[in-house]
Amino acid sequence: MATPKTFAIRTFGCQMNEHDSERLAGLMVADGLVRATNDDEADVIIFNTCTIRENADLKLYSALGQLKALKEQRPEMQIAVGGCMAQKDRGEILARAAWVDVVFGTHNLASAPSLLKRSRLEGPLVEILDAPDPEANREMAPALYAVRELDFAAWITIQTGCDNSCAFCIVPSVRGGEISRPFDDLVEEATMLARSGVSEITVLGQNVNSYGRDITKRGPLFAQLLRALGDVEGIERIRFTSPHPKDLRPETIAAMAQTEAVCNQLHLPLQSGSNRVLAAMRRGYSVERYLQRLSDAREAIEDLAVTTDLIVGFPGESDAEFDETLAVVAAAEFDSAYTFIFSPRPGTRAAAMTNDFVASDVIKERFERLKAVLDRSALRRHEARVGRREEVLVEGTSRRNDAMLSGRTRQGKLIHFPVTDESLRAGSLALVDVVHGAPYHLLGEFSSLVRAPRHRVRIPLLHS
Ligand code: SF4
Repeated sequence: MATPKTFAIRTFGCQMNEHDSERLAGLMVADGLVRATNDDEADVIIFNTCTIRENADLKLYSALGQLKALKEQRPEMQIAVGGCMAQKDRGEILARAAWVDVVFGTHNLASAPSLLKRSRLEGPLVEILDAPDPEANREMAPALYAVRELDFAAWITIQTGCDNSCAFCIVPSVRGGEISRPFDDLVEEATMLARSGVSEITVLGQNVNSYGRDITKRGPLFAQLLRALGDVEGIERIRFTSPHPKDLRPETIAAMAQTEAVCNQLHLPLQSGSNRVLAAMRRGYSVERYLQRLSDAREAIEDLAVTTDLIVGFPGESDAEFDETLAVVAAAEFDSAYTFIFSPRPGTRAAAMTNDFVASDVIKERFERLKAVLDRSALRRHEARVGRREEVLVEGTSRRNDAMLSGRTRQGKLIHFPVTDESLRAGSLALVDVVHGAPYHLLGEFSSLVRAPRHRVRIPLLHS
């Protein structure tokens, strides 16, 4: 029997991209390939790219540069580039790296295997669609056939694209407007995932709480979707990212509070604590409105963990405006935050504000001050959990210490605890007592087992 060809996927960017890579891996496996143990020895190397940050471009072209010599030694090896940067740069990728075989975009991920086959016969190919191919993407049966890192946890993409126009963001021009996947498809997908042993799903979209606005004139369906997913037997935990603060409706907060499976965790990107900067960013909410929604959510949802995104050094951000951000962040007491240094993305409004760019040494100093405030609030929030008993979904042995297990609490917090019960495995649900809080994790002690990992049912391969 011939040795199967091998593939490797290198992913840049967000969770949506990571999920796309899982789906891509599922397609490659369905096509008879196996994952390479060493990326550089793979017969096919696929880059799933991102374009949100400047260094993602640099990372891609530097990684491609490193592969040039390898391709010369092994011309039969194939290199493909997909994802957001491929969608944006199109033919430019081949102009800068002529040794790439296939370039595909965000709308035709499902075509990657056939493009790779065609390029063996026809040479380098670039195929970018301007809108999703619904049939191709539907046939791909998105999450079910993905090759996932964890058997018991899965992502489900509920929408693609974005209808907003945040001044710093390139997503709408690359991924297009919002397109929601059909409601029933999503519930069916969650049902199939639950049958295959998945107990936790994370719902993904650029602006999840506007999900369904393009399906019905009655308004977004996100609250209904949360409730419907919560009714799926076997789904015990539901998380989602990201909701837009301007669209966080009372019915979504109510659905979160009333649906047992929805975790008490909310990622609500603030971006800035200055109303002038928020307006320049075209975010569509004020600080007061953000804080009101945050307070409504905290009031309705018991023991809610809140995380956020913040950009430092948006063009024109003054010292006083940055201090406003520090004050809002201190008052909001976030559990954690993703902090970003502003980087201009060509083609965005913010990239044209060159006269207002903030000096890099000023940004760096602001970034450190912001991080210090965030770390203090994260530590306080974590120390306040000491003495509590948390329900933990075990993810496996800790990466740094194999005498410890790691898992996530319902609030999404990473917790490590010593292995004292050999029956605990990835997918087990356990009660763990928190004994220590650090800024980025908790430490605990095992209390009792809630349930063993759920039985995993094998799903036949796509196209089999
Ligand atoms: S909501 Fe704003 S930041 Fe998020 S994807 Fe849409 S345009 Fe980009």
